[in-house]
Amino acid sequence: MVIDFHSHIYPDKIAARAVENIGEFYRIPMACDGTVANLAASGLRGGIDRFVVFSAAAAPAQVPVINDYIASVVKEREGKSPAFTGLGTLHRDMEDPASEIERIARLGLKGIKLHPDMQKFDIDDKKMMDMYALLEGRMIAVFHTGDYRYGFSHPARLARVLDAFPRLTAVAAHFGGWSLHDLALEYFRNRSCYFDVSSSIPYTGRERALELIRIYGAERILFGSDFPMWDPASCLDEFNSLRLRDDERELILYKNALRILGEG
Ligand SMILES: [Zn+2]
Repeated sequence: MVIDFHSHIYPDKIAARAVENIGEFYRIPMACDGTVANLAASGLRGGIDRFVVFSAAAAPAQVPVINDYIASVVKEREGKSPAFTGLGTLHRDMEDPASEIERIARLGLKGIKLHPDMQKFDIDDKKMMDMYALLEGRMIAVFHTGDYRYGFSHPARLARVLDAFPRLTAVAAHFGGWSLHDLALEYFRNRSCYFDVSSSIPYTGRERALELIRIYGAERILFGSDFPMWDPASCLDEFNSLRLRDDERELILYKNALRILGEG
């Protein structure tokens, strides 16, 4: 079994514009078009059984719209392969985060995804800390972490969150720091959180990726593609080219994901 724990999806109408924006933000070409059909096709082609899907809200008003959209896609995919599991999103400036978190739970979403650099607030902003208190012990929180150009998602900030909420099931994406994976080690080596390998191996190289997995421990690592930036089927080939043991590979490809989703 293979679960991709990091995929962004967009409604067909706005996918082209959203993908263009991400490409401009990261100044790299996007491999895919950001639509559900495109993601599902890559899963079928590459043998990926399930995608954990989400989308971040640039403004507070988008939060309920995005959460409804993700829930509707998950529902629409029921009984189809690959399957989709959804995460919602939140925004620092939303008026009533507590009731939106309740709604996220009612919609069947398993947690939330934040992208502090694109959402333009600090991971450890006071208002965000109040929201993590509501998520702790209840929902998964996936954090984009790290960008050499900004401080919003700096590993030091996420480390503060982890210290304040030790029972929060947190995933620090991109080996804990996009473009900062080596620096991230200083902060996360001895803290309890998960990591995904998305948008990382092209930058770290295979040898360093293998080292990072071994330093953190395979039981803390999740496979992810960062669709639409990369094609999930190609990411799986790239991941499978790492010289891991079979037991490590199984943990990263699905066992850890099932465990934190409460299914394993
Ligand atoms: Zn992401």
